[in-house]
Amino acid sequence: PVRVRFAPSPTGLLHIGGLRTALYNYLLARQTGGAFVLRIEDTDRSRFDADAEQDILDGLAWAGLTTDEGPTQGGAVGPYRQSERRARYDEAARRLLDQGDAYVAFDTPEALEALREGGAAYDATTRGDLDNAVARGEEEARRRVEAGEPHVVRLKVPAGETVAFRDEVRGDVSFDTSDVDDQVLVKSDGMPTYHLANVVDDHAMGITDVIRGEEWLSSVPKHVLLYRALGWEPPRMAHLPLILSPNGGKLSKRSAGRLGIPVSVREYREAGYEPEAVVNFLALLGWNPGDDRELFSLDELAEAFSVDRIGRSGAQFSLDKLEWFNGQHLRALGPAEIARRARPAVDARWGEGGVGEGALVAAAALLRERIAKAADLADAGYLLGHDPETYDPAGVKKRWKDDSARLVALYADRLEAEDAFTEESTEAAMRQLAEDEGVGFGRVVHPARLAVTGVTAGAGMFETLVVVGREATVRRLRRAAE
Ligand code: GLU
Repeated sequence: PVRVRFAPSPTGLLHIGGLRTALYNYLLARQTGGAFVLRIEDTDRSRFDADAEQDILDGLAWAGLTTDEGPTQGGAVGPYRQSERRARYDEAARRLLDQGDAYVAFDTPEALEALREGGAAYDATTRGDLDNAVARGEEEARRRVEAGEPHVVRLKVPAGETVAFRDEVRGDVSFDTSDVDDQVLVKSDGMPTYHLANVVDDHAMGITDVIRGEEWLSSVPKHVLLYRALGWEPPRMAHLPLILSPNGGKLSKRSAGRLGIPVSVREYREAGYEPEAVVNFLALLGWNPGDDRELFSLDELAEAFSVDRIGRSGAQFSLDKLEWFNGQHLRALGPAEIARRARPAVDARWGEGGVGEGALVAAAALLRERIAKAADLADAGYLLGHDPETYDPAGVKKRWKDDSARLVALYADRLEAEDAFTEESTEAAMRQLAEDEGVGFGRVVHPARLAVTGVTAGAGMFETLVVVGREATVRRLRRAAE
């Protein structure tokens, strides 16, 4: 069975690109009845952020990407935090050293800096001249390690070999080992690097398929060499295309910032995007279903997904597209669910207890076709029991005529005199009034809308009046007429 993993480093807020990676892994697991594993790659203590793991868990849960194994739920091949798996990496490093596939090196940061500045790599061509076990001899190296001298463990990359592997997205890829440096596997603090820990864990956790961002493609030759040295079968691999900025070029933190594109999943949540929309949008950012379908639920995605339809070329990010998905998915939710999602924004705006459930659901039913986000309901105070505080100035200029005050006051009188207060009765009353006064219907309806809602656009006038209710409608008409 397929076993996939999402393996974020807890260095900050979960990134939108990270959520895309998690999603593709999740989809493959669901489609095949496999397992979706969360592994926290926290071996880089200098970049460790204690809040990041929780943010990752929250982001996955928000998007609906349920994990089967992970740091908080456990599983058969745990622990799922690399910082708790030190012994396994030590053992692998030990084996590599014993086999002669790795060696210890003592070079100071200054010496390494000088090497880099001189344009040389730490590889088969230079290692013999540097301060390491290859240059100084095993015996001396052992003595220095035992004496407690700071050292790292490096992979011994052979020179002049071709390392070939297959990537499910890019096809056959090959690298010349002369371009691969002697990667550090264990740092001087005794912690493994990403490369060692990642390979050890993918093997130990029985991972069958690795799906991750293209930026990791260049690490694969090192991983292939490690798998080979350790006598393990590498997993299948698929590298996802880069996410491009709407202007072209890679979508970096900086370019995103300049364009006002949020980068963390948390920001999307807080901006009120629906998780279903974000998931649908991310699924199509690098994958296509092979036909022109665009709208998918998570379950539908799991059914339609296939690694072969992941694209090679960069996928262009578009907030407009996300907004569109948001509207589509919002509409698919019922009014009660939209109201539930709007609640935090509504309470933030109108105070807790400031808007009743009935009013909010009614507003959701009325405006679901017109809002981009559930939270936008908070702006429709006029449907939520709050008289307009201001009137849209452009609307007033265009719609409020000399006779408007008189007409809305007359309309208020008629509404008060009627027995019923329904869409039909309020409309009939307005038509009758316009006829009696010898004016066009628009002469009444536009000012009345401004008076009741403060704005010129919205749902149908008479449905709106029914939600607002007779008392508030009459009060608002009279107030505007003053
Ligand atoms: N820890 C790496 C990251 O932060 C994992 C990359 C991989 O999936 O191998 O993305």
